[in-house]
Amino acid sequence: MKPGRELDALVAEYVIGYECVCDEEPVDCPIHAYNDHYTLSPYSTDIAAAWRVDKPGWVWEFQETSHDLTATLYPSPQARIEAMANYPILPEGVALVRREWLDDKATTYACVRCLAALRAVGAEI
Ligand SMILES: [Zn+2]
Repeated sequence: MKPGRELDALVAEYVIGYECVCDEEPVDCPIHAYNDHYTLSPYSTDIAAAWRVDKPGWVWEFQETSHDLTATLYPSPQARIEAMANYPILPEGVALVRREWLDDKATTYACVRCLAALRAVGAEI
């Protein structure tokens, strides 16, 4: 999935925890309403917004090569220790996402961070 509004909406719902209220008050939905009152944070395109895509205990690692970026997201510090002890087998619950660089490096970081977070919470992407 590419960075953009669709990915931002998934992050808002499944990672940040906003509730969709389109059935009752579509104009006020914090995820899907496109009005002046509720503007969805650009999690997948803005690195400042992407830093808020996080949960207590999560441990992030990023690895760059000349052609791609890999994020490894551990659900807890303990999971990271287990992963190191059992290398190269990743324990259950660890999310690993690799993407080729987009035109903009910061956007690539934002997008990969969102994708890893969604995978970590078990959301289908
Ligand atoms: Zn909605």
